[in-house]
Amino acid sequence: MTLKIRQSLQLKEILRATVTEVQRILQADRVLIYQVLPDGTGKPISEAVLHAYPEILGMEFPEEVFPKEYQQLYAQGRVRAIADVRDPAAGLAECLVEFIEQFDIRAKLIVPILQNLNSPQINASIPENQLWGLLIAHQCSQPRRWDDFELELMQQLADQISIALAQAQLLGHLEELVEMRTAELREANHSLQQEINDRMQAESALRQSEEQLRLITNALPVLIAYVDDQQRYRFNNQAYADWLGQPPSQICGCHLQTVWGEDCYQRMSPYVEEALSGRAVIYETEIKIKTGAIRSVNVTYIPHLDEQQTVKGFFALTSDISERKAIERMKDEFISVVSHELRTPLTSLHSALKILTTGRLGTLSTDGQQMLEIADENTDRLVRLVNNVLDLQRIESGEVRMEKQSCNAADLMIQAIESMQPMAQQHEVILSNHPVDILIWADSDYIVQALTNLLSNAIKFSAPGDTVWLSVEYIDLAQSAKSSGARSVTPAARRKGRKSAKSQPTPAEVLFQVRDQGQGIPADKLESIFERFQQVDSSDSRRKGGTGLGLTICRKIIEQHDGRIWAESKLGEGSTFFFTVPALQQH
Ligand code: ADP
Repeated sequence: MTLKIRQSLQLKEILRATVTEVQRILQADRVLIYQVLPDGTGKPISEAVLHAYPEILGMEFPEEVFPKEYQQLYAQGRVRAIADVRDPAAGLAECLVEFIEQFDIRAKLIVPILQNLNSPQINASIPENQLWGLLIAHQCSQPRRWDDFELELMQQLADQISIALAQAQLLGHLEELVEMRTAELREANHSLQQEINDRMQAESALRQSEEQLRLITNALPVLIAYVDDQQRYRFNNQAYADWLGQPPSQICGCHLQTVWGEDCYQRMSPYVEEALSGRAVIYETEIKIKTGAIRSVNVTYIPHLDEQQTVKGFFALTSDISERKAIERMKDEFISVVSHELRTPLTSLHSALKILTTGRLGTLSTDGQQMLEIADENTDRLVRLVNNVLDLQRIESGEVRMEKQSCNAADLMIQAIESMQPMAQQHEVILSNHPVDILIWADSDYIVQALTNLLSNAIKFSAPGDTVWLSVEYIDLAQSAKSSGARSVTPAARRKGRKSAKSQPTPAEVLFQVRDQGQGIPADKLESIFERFQQVDSSDSRRKGGTGLGLTICRKIIEQHDGRIWAESKLGEGSTFFFTVPALQQH
């Protein structure tokens, strides 16, 4: 019987099996399980009864039938065996006898079913030995004397029911847990599915935008690439195949050196390093394409920084500027030819006017003399302009090379000051020279030309009585880099250095400065005045007799020396022009 009870975890089945088996074994007329409800009422929830007797299953009994004090006694383990309910020795109240006789009860055996009894899987919140219900056997046909074995059997079965109850409770709890876990899993599964869908959508969007990007970059006649911090291509467009004959798939993952060859790589390497140190670079160079032709290109590198500002690589854009270069060359050649052709007649015109102004060939009227002087002045300007154009053209075309040698900065400064002295006197400007013996590696004639250009501007734009200072200083780059964390000495010098990206790191350089107290230069013009024919005020050329080429020539000269040139100024207070050239030794 115990086995039958234990076989099922379904409480209803257990109870039914119990009453059926007890009824069969005890040959009782009725066996039932009466559940005590928390409000004190109760009802039979399982019953096995012979046909001859009324069923009481499901009937609800008020609390009076089974008062609280009785319940407490049973909770303490009391059992009751009544052989004859009518026997006064049974101690049942008259009314109760009447009540139970309506169910034909003559003898009864009652054992309590306690919850938590000997059960290790108890719910700790329920106190021990709580009365759950009663296992009751009725004899209806006649009185019956219940023997010990029967009592013992009933008690043991009640215990089994207790265990079954605990197990059913545990099962219920487990089922609840399983249900909760299943719901959680279902939820997790749902969000997982959602995530998979989102990812698939994102991937497809990414694929689409990648395709679009490829379509766009492939349609453009420029080289577009992404290079990682190991200098390996990670992306490149179709133009690479058209220019270099290597399809993008072959280039991807290759080192710059492998793709471009040793010579070209040497040229691009300093700029690549600059980009990988986090600075944008723009430069012009020449490359050899698959046909063997040399093309001029403009290259831009934009560093790729992550959120921590670490350089991950750089984006590279290379465009063909060969045609523009060819046109520029033609234009320069034309200017050079015209200037050459102008120079000879201009020189004779200039000489003729000079002789006429001396009055040796006869005197002119005052008006005539005045006109002659104007003609002479303008011819002077024209000669300067033609000379400047030719100078610039010669430096730019590489027709003249800087003959660099060791020279003393102080000598060059003295030479430049001496040649500008007459002009300074004419403008009543004081020249203050601060020469220092520092050896530089330069073409002395061209450095003197740069200095005189700067001094001439400083004098031109100063008022009478003003001073123009010329000074020089030695800059130990290694030292200044250590102390300032940068290669150059001043912020502007750093700015310049970055822009030109031209010079290789040199151990030391010499910084020349030409400072004036003149009208100053507006901040937005500080860069542009180094371009050809750029003047702060277009009337400067007429008023001051300039050509607009002086600073362009200076820049070309300094760049040829691997130096940098720039200006700083405060309107109304004056300007300072700086340039650097490599130093030879430390002083
Ligand atoms: P220019 O022959 O006209 O002097 P530059 O190229 O030497 O040509 O100079 C270009 C322009 O820069 C000048 O016209 C002037 O407007 C400005 N500039 C150059 N130096 C100075 C200076 N020391 N003070 C003020 N303006 C200057």
